[in-house]
Amino acid sequence: MLKGRTALVTGSTSGIGLGIVTRLAAGGANIVLNGFGDAAEIERLRRELAAKHRVSVVYDGADMSRPESISSMMQKALAEFGAIDLLVNNAGIQHVAPVDDFPVAKWDAIIAINLSAAFHTVRAALPAMKQRRWGRIVNVASAHALVASPYKSAYVAAKHGIAGFTKTVALEVAEQGITVNAVCPGYVLTPLVQQQIPDTAKARGISEEAVVRDVLLAAQPTKKFVTVEEVAALTAFLCSDEAASITGAILPIEGGWTAH
Ligand code: NAD
Repeated sequence: MLKGRTALVTGSTSGIGLGIVTRLAAGGANIVLNGFGDAAEIERLRRELAAKHRVSVVYDGADMSRPESISSMMQKALAEFGAIDLLVNNAGIQHVAPVDDFPVAKWDAIIAINLSAAFHTVRAALPAMKQRRWGRIVNVASAHALVASPYKSAYVAAKHGIAGFTKTVALEVAEQGITVNAVCPGYVLTPLVQQQIPDTAKARGISEEAVVRDVLLAAQPTKKFVTVEEVAALTAFLCSDEAASITGAILPIEGGWTAH
C-alpha cells in the first residue's frame, strides 16, 4: 500500500499518465498531477481522484520543456508534501518525419520533454528521498528505448537516452533505498498514438488502416495494443516495497515486440 506516500506523475492529464495516477491514488498515494488540457476538465479530475480515494491531489501545469517551470513545480510540491516519494517521468510527445526533413524545433522539444525533463525532476526529488532513505523513480520509456523504427529519430534517441539515464541514477543511489527503473510499453492506443497514425500514413505512403495493421500491430506478436491499465499496474508494482530489489531495469511491456 502507498498510504502516506506522495506521487508526482508528469503528463498525467491523459493516456498512460492518467492511468498511473488513478492506480497510485487507489493505492493511497497523494498525487501531484501535471500536464496540459482543459482547465475545467483537469479540476474535475483532481476533485474526483481526491474524493474517490480520500487522498490529497494538487495540480501543477508546469511545461516540461522548460527547466525553470519544472524547478518551480518541484519546489512547490516539496514544500507541500515534504518529499516526492514516487516520481514517474511520463510526459512525452512524438513527431514522425524522415530525419532530413525533421523540423529542428520538434527535435529540440522531444529531447527536452522526453529526456531532459527527467534530469530536472530527478535532481530536485533526490535530496528528500535520500534523507528518508526511500524512493521510487519510474521513467516511462518505450519499446523505442530498446529498438528503433524509421522516421522517429528524435523519439528513439530520447528514449534510448532515458534508458541510459535510468541505469546511471540507479547505480548512484542503489545503497540508499531508492530504486530507478524504466518501463517500455509497446503501442498503447492513447492520443499520442492516434495522432501519429495520419503522419505515419503520409511518411510511408499507405492508408491509416494499413498503419494500424502493418506498422503498429505488426511490431507486436500478440497483435493487440498494450493497455493503459497494464502499464499502470507494472508501474505501481515498481513503486511498492516488494520491488526493492528491482533497480536499473529497463522492463519491456510490449506484447513480445523486442523478442523479434
Ligand atoms: P498522451 O498524449 O495521451 O499523454 C501525454 C501527456 O503528456 C499529456 O498529459 C500531456 O498534456 C503531457 N505533456 C505533453 N507535453 C507536455 C509538456 N511540455 N509539459 C507537460 N506535460 C506535457 O500520450 P501517452 O501515450 O499517454 O504517452 C505517455 C508516455 O508514454 C510518453 O512518454 C510516451 O512516449 C510513452 N509511451 C507511449 C506509448 C503509446 O503507445 N502510447 C508507447 C510507449 C511509450
